[in-house]
Amino acid sequence: MRLYNTLTRREEEFAPADGKTVRMYTCGLTVYARGHIGNFRTFVCLDVLRRALRHEFGWQMREVMNFTDVDDRTIVGAQNAQMPLREYTDQFIGAFREDARALGMEPVEENPRATDEANLRAMADMIKALGAHGHTYTSDGSIYFKISTLPEYGALSRIDQAGMMAGARVDADNYTKEDARDFVLWKATKPGEPTWDYGTGPGRPGWHIECSAMALRLLGEPPIDIHAGGIDLIFPHHENEIAQSVGATGKPFVRFWVHVEHLLVDDQKMSKSLGNTYTLPDLATRGYRPSAVRYLLMSGHYRKQLNFTFTSLQQAEESLRRLTDFLARLDAVTGDEGHPEIEERIGQAGHAFREALADDLNTAAALAAVFDLVRALNSAIDAGAVGTPDVSCIRHFFERVDQVLGVIGLRQAEEQAPPVPAEEIERLIEDRHAARRRRDFAAADRIRQDLASRGILLEDTAGGTRWKRK
Ligand code: AMP
Ligand code: ZN
Repeated sequence: MRLYNTLTRREEEFAPADGKTVRMYTCGLTVYARGHIGNFRTFVCLDVLRRALRHEFGWQMREVMNFTDVDDRTIVGAQNAQMPLREYTDQFIGAFREDARALGMEPVEENPRATDEANLRAMADMIKALGAHGHTYTSDGSIYFKISTLPEYGALSRIDQAGMMAGARVDADNYTKEDARDFVLWKATKPGEPTWDYGTGPGRPGWHIECSAMALRLLGEPPIDIHAGGIDLIFPHHENEIAQSVGATGKPFVRFWVHVEHLLVDDQKMSKSLGNTYTLPDLATRGYRPSAVRYLLMSGHYRKQLNFTFTSLQQAEESLRRLTDFLARLDAVTGDEGHPEIEERIGQAGHAFREALADDLNTAAALAAVFDLVRALNSAIDAGAVGTPDVSCIRHFFERVDQVLGVIGLRQAEEQAPPVPAEEIERLIEDRHAARRRRDFAAADRIRQDLASRGILLEDTAGGTRWKRK
């Protein structure tokens, strides 16, 4: 397949270096809050990339997606919540796993946490290697990467070398291109901050060293095949990851850099600092299911910005429903005659689908190929030109495309699951009984109505209260 490489600013033919297994690193969530659907735009698009590489193009995957569970933001968050860092970040890792499952993301091979001891040790070892190659210096107990020691610094983000401030330092994990300076690898301990010492002095890692160290520890010899994340990570995060890896190993770090464009709200990046975020639970309370969100997030090309609106989410819902309605329609097809032209039409659609994905993961065109087929087949069914032998061929096609899209099976699973978790229904039934026992019939009725509005009907029988779906 052809894949756009941010490093060369060109589409290039992609295949894993060993011809078999794609070694991929995806920058994961910083776990100081529940991920919002902007974060999940990046993750869902990269999930589609993973699925295409695996199911459509037949490579094996070895993908690492980390949790950034120590950095400026997680530390401040834990301090404000007055919780130990690990306990604080656990909550958001749990929420991420829930959301990732709800969005039908394939589990990746490794989900390391930066604060796992093996990873912290790998970071310290990498910093020592950088020191041995003359790329670091220490100031007030913190260790910095000296960017003037690496002439190729800035190649990924194409920053102006002249603009870099020689000798100046930056301690923050994130900063802008205008502030390109020597960046921190290991931050000296500050009161109230978590601290470790694996031979680089008491302190904690900077954000950038975390990903370099975890990528090399878990994926092996560089260069790895793909490194991916949202477009905001190009500078400084990925630029600094390259500097660290190249400085420590003397080898190129990554073959293909893949960056997903932002999800916007009213022309601004969806981000926590702007207060314009939505999470999956936010959307669920407005009646939108994760399958519709997934559909929306992957429906545009990953290198184009996508503007989030409730109208577009509703349209995603309708598109998805067109697919599932069509599949349901197949159940009613009778007649045991097969039609070669149907098989041929499906072959064309399959070809167009694959070509679209091969064209830098053009999901919009891939979906168009699927909908063109749905239109053609709907007309064929209307004309009585589809028989049961064709139906199995049609179903097979949709199973194949959904291995990459991951929305149809997801919607079907949602339809089978009760709209309210069974444990919650049981608990509410108990609460309702308790309310009745204390003769608070208004409260009992509220519970019944609340469940009814969420699609669950209660029936009082001699044997107790039963529930069923509306
Ligand atoms: P963070 O938790 O801030 O480290 O971000 C996790 C991932 O989400 C990174 O790859 C970011 O680039 C990505 N991301 C953050 N905001 C957005 C957005 N509005 N649209 C798309 N990706 C985003
Ligand atoms: Zn990263």
